[in-house]
Amino acid sequence: SRVFNFSAGPAVLPEPVLRQAADEMLDWQGTGMSVMEMSHRGKEFISIHAEAEANFRELMDIPSSYKVLFMQGGAIGENAIVPMNLIGRTGRADYVLTGDWSKKSAKEAATYGQVHVAATAAASKFTAVPSQSEWKLDPGAAYVHICSNETIGGVQFHWTPDTGSVPLVADMSSDILSRRIDVRKYGLIYAGAQKNMGPSGLTMVIVREDLLGHALAITPSAFNYQLQAEADSMYNTPPTYAIYVAGLVFRHVKKMGGLAAMEAHNLAKANVLYDFLETSSFYRNPIAKEDRSLMNVPFWLNDESHNDAFLKGAEQRGMLQLKGHRSVGGMRASIYNAMPIEGVQALVQYMKEFESRHG
Ligand code: PLP
Repeated sequence: SRVFNFSAGPAVLPEPVLRQAADEMLDWQGTGMSVMEMSHRGKEFISIHAEAEANFRELMDIPSSYKVLFMQGGAIGENAIVPMNLIGRTGRADYVLTGDWSKKSAKEAATYGQVHVAATAAASKFTAVPSQSEWKLDPGAAYVHICSNETIGGVQFHWTPDTGSVPLVADMSSDILSRRIDVRKYGLIYAGAQKNMGPSGLTMVIVREDLLGHALAITPSAFNYQLQAEADSMYNTPPTYAIYVAGLVFRHVKKMGGLAAMEAHNLAKANVLYDFLETSSFYRNPIAKEDRSLMNVPFWLNDESHNDAFLKGAEQRGMLQLKGHRSVGGMRASIYNAMPIEGVQALVQYMKEFESRHG
């Protein structure tokens, strides 16, 4: 009865994870309690939290000099929380604009310090990542911010910027756990959980320890990284159920072979769709080939009068949530970790059929 869900989020999760959560809903491991009903300071939840963190650290190969924080507020919350915690070191930060999400981050940060746009993809209409030779980095910036994957635009970094001694900060909301990354090259990584990790309501933050302790005085204590790190992310009540489900996802990803396996799986899936789009004159995807997202594939029908029929036919075949983001229209296939290759193959098959009927 399960469909192929091409939703950009919140949350498309692996079926075994959902089944386990359902099985354990009323009685977690003989305790007679749902995880939602447990004290976050009790031994049961502490064990859930500790296993989730250990597996996340192992999957991402996070060095011990980094703290892992389980927070709330989502990535939009982090757009303010990051500058509140980090910008105070010098009062200025560099932002690289590659689409709607990074533009939003820069705008929010300007409330807390001086924001400098080090590079923008505006000239390409946000269809490519500006090459680093075009970036104008400020050596006195407190950090450089990027969005590693623009969920709406479908533009992804396939290289790690070199920002020298200035810490690199990345919003990885829509591509975390989809591929291997070298955490050591970043000062801070944040991500809303709700694409590849779990239900919305949980935000993961990975922060290098030496960046803690510089929060602006106005920073709410629940959003102060240092206080949260000292309290093991329990300064306030954490999103316990979301942490539990994310923990199940981390276990599942490990079982599937970790991030190297995810990366191969995601590359194979995206290739099926992009290879087809390249050959079609009925559909188009305007993103520069080397910067195309492996997670979110926006595409347009050249004749948009067929949009409704396209979506209706997809739904009838059990392929849901293909409508593009409201700000850009068209279609978007989000193919996160939980999307099987069969889902992408079924989509391409349907796109071919639709093209032969309407092209
Ligand atoms: N950043 C990126 C890259 C996203 O994809 C999203 C949400 O989809 C956000 C930020 C906003 O996240 P939230 O709604 O959790 O605040």
